[in-house]
Amino acid sequence: MNQHAIIIGAGLAGSSAAERLAARGWKIDLIERAHAPGQGASGNIAGVLRPLPSLDDNRLARLTRAGFQHACQHFAALTAAGQPLRWGQTGVLHLARDETHAATQQRVVEIRKAAVDQLYFVDRQQARKLAAWPVASGGWWFPGGAWVDPASLCRANVARHADAISAHYDTQVAQIERPADLWQARSAAGDLIAEAPVLILANATTARQFPAAAHLPLRSARGQVSHLATTAGSAPDIVVCRLGYVTPAIDGLRCAGATFSVDDGESALREADHAENLAKLDFILPGYGKGIQARDLAGRVGFRPLSPDRLPMIGAIGDAAAIDPDAPARPLAEMPRLPGLYLINGFGARGIVWSALAGELLACLITATPPPLPEDLVDALDPGRFLLRGRSRRQRVDRKP
Ligand SMILES: Cc1cc2nc3c(=O)[nH]c(=O)nc-3n(C[C@H](O)[C@H](O)[C@H](O)COP(=O)(O)OP(=O)(O)OC[C@H]3O[C@@H](n4cnc5c(N)ncnc54)[C@H](O)[C@@H]3O)c2cc1C
Repeated sequence: MNQHAIIIGAGLAGSSAAERLAARGWKIDLIERAHAPGQGASGNIAGVLRPLPSLDDNRLARLTRAGFQHACQHFAALTAAGQPLRWGQTGVLHLARDETHAATQQRVVEIRKAAVDQLYFVDRQQARKLAAWPVASGGWWFPGGAWVDPASLCRANVARHADAISAHYDTQVAQIERPADLWQARSAAGDLIAEAPVLILANATTARQFPAAAHLPLRSARGQVSHLATTAGSAPDIVVCRLGYVTPAIDGLRCAGATFSVDDGESALREADHAENLAKLDFILPGYGKGIQARDLAGRVGFRPLSPDRLPMIGAIGDAAAIDPDAPARPLAEMPRLPGLYLINGFGARGIVWSALAGELLACLITATPPPLPEDLVDALDPGRFLLRGRSRRQRVDRKP
């Protein structure tokens, strides 16, 4: 096959896929409507990188663990290659919400320690020492956890293989079509932007604008983060989470957040959301926000691309029009697909944790090489799962007397 792909969207999803394919010798046309990579959901000053272990080591826990490990390796490789990725492996302290949660966290550490790199439970005294703040509870301590500037990650992904990636910024794709063997991306005026045998939709919440992806149950979750002016080196100098998060000072600002509001398209900052973030901040670091007024705060709004099962969507797009809703359900492997059309999306609130792994998985699926995840997880992320689910649900309903 001609090793050439079009990628629409240069956020964490698109830039990660571009980096992984370019590393394999592929030529990439990366099309982004903004003036630079990482201007959408991936444009916050900083987000949090850490896994999310669970008692039963469920799919989310396994996936965040694999994502965390991949991300750490990828970030170290970008840094070693001289790319200007901005991140700080300060460690992440995830405080317990209450006594019951603390007991669960402790139990998870006892049961799952062997499966999770460097996970500890610290009591309240130890937590206070780590945070250098009188926090109200103990919790999980991930010494390998980090804050990451996601836009710098997008830029580093694109810059690492600059020779192979042709970036088209300030360019919006209005239409995709495959008149013969090649996919074409066109502007609103109908002009051809690029054509290639493979096309990857990495345009987050707007993927459904293209008829081939209109069946996907993608939604948007608005998130507002608040920026708190602070001095470098002030406490805490680690990331602290507790039903929200606060980062260390980065260029004189801490990020505290974030709100989560589904199908809410308001792009302007809201004072009420800053107030919500300040309430979360007080739960994390009691007293920190004293004297800070919501009306005085700056911040940023982003829209997370959300899937109904909170797992990302990575792989070939199913051909919804070719599926007979009345035919018996068939396994995922037999699902008709649109040739050469792929998706990397649905990262929700975990794009920093998942993007490196997702880019690698997509590159493996496209090049038919062994994936970095076991088969059950690859299937769990397959965008075709929603076509199967819709159909089997319909069949169950149909079968009812
Ligand atoms: C407030 C907030 C806090 C978060 N905190 C964390 C955190 O702590 N840890 C974590 O892991 N994750 C976090 N996330 C989640 C993470 O940021 C997202 O999952 C991730 O950024 C999604 O990446 P993406 O590439 O899919 O989307 P985006 O970054 O939105 O990229 C999609 C791109 O496609 C472009 N595009 C869209 N349509 C077109 C078109 N037709 N033509 C050309 N270009 C197009 C857009 O301009 C955009 O640049 C947070 C998100 C928010 C909003």
